[in-house]
Amino acid sequence: PRHFAQRLAGLPAPATIEMARRARALRDEGRQVISLALGEPDFATPPAVIEAAHAAALAGQTKYPPVDGTPALKAAVARKFLRENGLTYTPDEIMVSNGGKQVIFNAFMATLNTGDEVVVPTPYWVSYPLIARMFGGVPVYAPCHEADGFRLKAEALAAVMTPRTRWVVLNFPNNPTGAVCSKADLEAVADVLRAYPDVWILSDEIYEHLVFDGQEFASLAAVAPDLKDRIVTLNGVSKAYAMTGWRVGFAGGPKDLIAAMRGVQGNATSGVCSIAQAAATAALDGPADLVRDMAKTYSRRRTMVVEALRAIPGLTCAMPEGAFYAYPGVAGCLGRTTAGGTLLETDRDFAVAFLEEENVATVPGAAFGLSPYLRFSCATDDKNLQEACARLSRFVKNLK
Ligand code: PLP
Repeated sequence: PRHFAQRLAGLPAPATIEMARRARALRDEGRQVISLALGEPDFATPPAVIEAAHAAALAGQTKYPPVDGTPALKAAVARKFLRENGLTYTPDEIMVSNGGKQVIFNAFMATLNTGDEVVVPTPYWVSYPLIARMFGGVPVYAPCHEADGFRLKAEALAAVMTPRTRWVVLNFPNNPTGAVCSKADLEAVADVLRAYPDVWILSDEIYEHLVFDGQEFASLAAVAPDLKDRIVTLNGVSKAYAMTGWRVGFAGGPKDLIAAMRGVQGNATSGVCSIAQAAATAALDGPADLVRDMAKTYSRRRTMVVEALRAIPGLTCAMPEGAFYAYPGVAGCLGRTTAGGTLLETDRDFAVAFLEEENVATVPGAAFGLSPYLRFSCATDDKNLQEACARLSRFVKNLK
């Protein structure tokens, strides 16, 4: 027999990756596929950032970097937290990882024991429950509703806290809904967390710069400084600076937890690519107007897409306040049959048939723990987005 670890039993591959794979297969058959499946900025990394990487490589920054990040990047991260979030972190409270994803992996591996509960508001980014389960954690879901603009209500959180809760995960602006929690929302959530002093809190703020309509982003540790010694503030350069391929994420957190996370990473990947760290340093210290311009573009696209979706009979769509996704509801289309003869019983049926019949890849809400919805990534150009909405309109009009 061939042996695989028990901890992987029943762990599915993320549906986002599955839909992207199907889209690629259809494209290889020669079809004109529009993929709105992945959450990846369509912008190029700023040239000054690439130049900084080049210069670092030529200057000999090509040796093993420290496990927790180069002193230069950690200093830039500390400046970023202070300047943008009003948070003070010392160097031993900061750690750099291979993307925000590895921050989560490190934190959960360093703290979870079998049966520990990880509270995740739904809908969620697919990786939180999957990583928790790798380490014996049990995901527990706190529902956020379309009627509340998908913001987390304190009562929904309070209702699922138990003595076994070890982590609470917060992610606003949210992937997949684009929901943003206001300072007041976070204050109410913090009140719930105060009653559970042994619980760690992951605040995933990776979409912080993509907040629209003049709203202000609020960082949990700044809203509730008394909780800061158990909050991991996660951020990174992937989304804000169009740097998904460089694999640089970072976290601010309490010294003891950061040390444990450093221990995990030291045995897994060691420090992040030294050249990518030089690039991330330049991005964080670079001009803020690049990020603001990208946010303006995402905001404009969001309005265009949501208006097009709302014009389709049978669909609903909350107005996302941040990030670069729309999360239309498809309840009004279930029970009907597509032009190609597929009965739509679930949002997964919907997403698969829409891809097969109209060549547009989206991700079904089931992947994010809240059905029946689709996630539309708006990180592609206007022409693709308009064409995708036109195809969706035709797909729905043809339902019988
Ligand atoms: N957090 C959220 C909510 C995300 O959507 C993503 C990427 O999709 C990440 C974290 C991780 O990004 P990265 O590992 O590229 O930093």
